[in-house]
This record gives sequence, structure tokens and C-alpha cells, in this order.
Amino acid sequence: MLISGKDIAKRLRAELGDKAADLKAKHGITPGLATVLVGNDPASHSYVRMKRKACEELGIASFHHELPADTPQADVEKLVSELNADATVHGILVQLPLPDHINEKEVLDLISISKDVDGFHPMNIGMLAMKGREPHFLPCTPHGVMVMLHEAGVDLNGKNAVVLGRSNIVGIPVALLLMHANATVTIAHSRTQNLQEVCKNADILIAAVGRAEMVKGDWVKPGAVVIDVGVNRVDDDTRERGYRLVGDVDTDAVEAVASAVSPVPGGVGPMTIAMLMSNTFTSAEASLAQKA
Ligand code: NDP
Repeated sequence: MLISGKDIAKRLRAELGDKAADLKAKHGITPGLATVLVGNDPASHSYVRMKRKACEELGIASFHHELPADTPQADVEKLVSELNADATVHGILVQLPLPDHINEKEVLDLISISKDVDGFHPMNIGMLAMKGREPHFLPCTPHGVMVMLHEAGVDLNGKNAVVLGRSNIVGIPVALLLMHANATVTIAHSRTQNLQEVCKNADILIAAVGRAEMVKGDWVKPGAVVIDVGVNRVDDDTRERGYRLVGDVDTDAVEAVASAVSPVPGGVGPMTIAMLMSNTFTSAEASLAQKA
């Protein structure tokens, strides 16, 4: 079975669109998302375009700031501070990666925790790591993965979950969320030995490495559920743009072994955007509570 993030995200976006219209009608508040894009990375431009399009579709205001690649650190920080102070902005998204001369950590740390709709602020991740604490926002991609598992009816309780990858934005937070959902979690990475065996032990396997089709059919336990977070470009002369997108999982081979696998494209990607919209809406709703 394929777990279509695209279909789940479509339904979630429709629900959010209705809720945003309601918030506006009842309280005169339009949720607002500010996007900050520094430089000319084509993939980043495409991601931000998709996020702005989703805002438009849902009646969420999008405030876009595009800065040249040589923008000094101080100017990026000044912009973030201004957005922090702007009451019409409920969420701030600084598209990563930032150019090399920009200290990413300092920029992300500056985003107000109440507008950190990407969920990357160390306070949010810290609260996510702790038992009994609630982060303001869950990071979008990991949250999207969890919603996909839930929608697919996957029981995580006591199951072996393997997360392939330990990045701040995917691997670590998804592992924390799986742990909170009572899975027994293994985090694998580039130094892990016997990677294939480790993966084969997984009832639930989350692949977030950025290596095209690395997870093969014989890496997967029969009946396992596999979520493919990876997005990799591979050359393809038959496509007009000269490449196609594939995940970290050899989808056809794995689908034959697993009980369910998410495709790329049409899997985690659309869920990430839906979760960003959801966080922006939640932030706008929370601003209403603060006013009261
Ligand atoms: P990073 O490059 O930050 O992290 C990759 C992780 O994979 C690291 O922990 C690294 O280990 C591990 N790794 C790399 N190579 C191997 C290997 N050969 N064997 C085992 N582990 C390995 O990537 P991200 O977490 O940011 O992203 C991962 C993938 O997910 C990418 O393809 C990215 O494009 C995609 N992505 C998709 C999103 C979506 O919305 N669909 C959103 C975000 C990311 P180590 O720590 O030891 O270096």
C-alpha cells in the first residue's frame, strides 16, 4: 500500500481553509506567514513558492522577503526582529540553507518562540525532548510523518522504530515524537554499523538521509511500514528539466515487502507544507487568546 501524503494533506488543507475563513469572519484575524529567502538556491526558491501558494489557497496572508546572497548577517537579523514585532505576522519561516557567511544558529535563535512555525528554535526542540512539556510548535516534517502514520492506522505502541538520519530538522525530532508515541526507537546515521540489519529490525522505518534510493527491498522487514522523507534529484534526460525527484527508498522494491510505504513525490513533502499552514493558523489563534 502507498501512504499518500498528498491526499492526506489535501484534506487537512481544506479543513484549515475553512478554519481560517471562520477566524477571519468571527474575529477579523487573517493568519500571516512571513517567508525569508536569502540567496539563489533553486530548490529553496521552489520550496518557498510552494509554501506561498499554499498560503494563498487557504486565505493565509504571505509576506515574502527575498534578500540577495551577499546580505550581511546584521540585515537578516534586523529583518527577523522587525517580523517578530509585526502583529500581522503569526509565523516566520527562514528558508534553509542560508548562505555560508550567515550564522544560521544566530538567525534561528532570534525568531520569537511564539512565531517559530518551523519548530526549529532550540526552546521548541528542548521542550519536545522533555517529558511532560509541550513545545509551542512541532517541527513540520516530523509532525507530518507522525500524522501520516496515524492516518495509515499504524500502531506504534511498543514497536521497533528505526530513524535513518539524525539531523536537527528531521531525524532527531521524528525520533523524539516516535519515542513519545511509545515506540522503541533506534537512531541510525553515517557511523552506524550493519545498517541493513538495523533497518531490517524495524517495524516502522523512517528514512531521512538524502541518498537516492538507498533503502532496498532486502533492508526491510516483511510487513514493516516505511516513510520516505528523502528528496533527491537524479539525472533524467527524458524529463524536460533534466532530472526527476526520488526518495531515500527504492519504492517499488520496498512496496513489495512492506505493508505500506510513502511515495516521493506525493508523500512527506505535501505534509510538511500542510503542517506549516497548521502551525501558522494555531499561532494566529493563540494571538487571539493573548488579546483577550
Ligand atoms: P542532513 O544532511 O542534515 O542529515 C542526513 C542524515 O543522514 C545525517 O544524520 C547523516 O549522518 C545521515 N546519513 C547520510 N548518509 C548516510 C549513509 N550513507 N548511511 C547512514 N546515514 C547517513 O539531511 P536532512 O535531515 O535535512 O534531510 C534528509 C533528507 O530529507 C534529504 O533528502 C532532504 O532533502 C529531505 N527533506 C525532506 C523534507 C520534506 O518535506 N519532504 C523536509 C526536510 C528534508 P551523520 O549525522 O552521521 O552525518
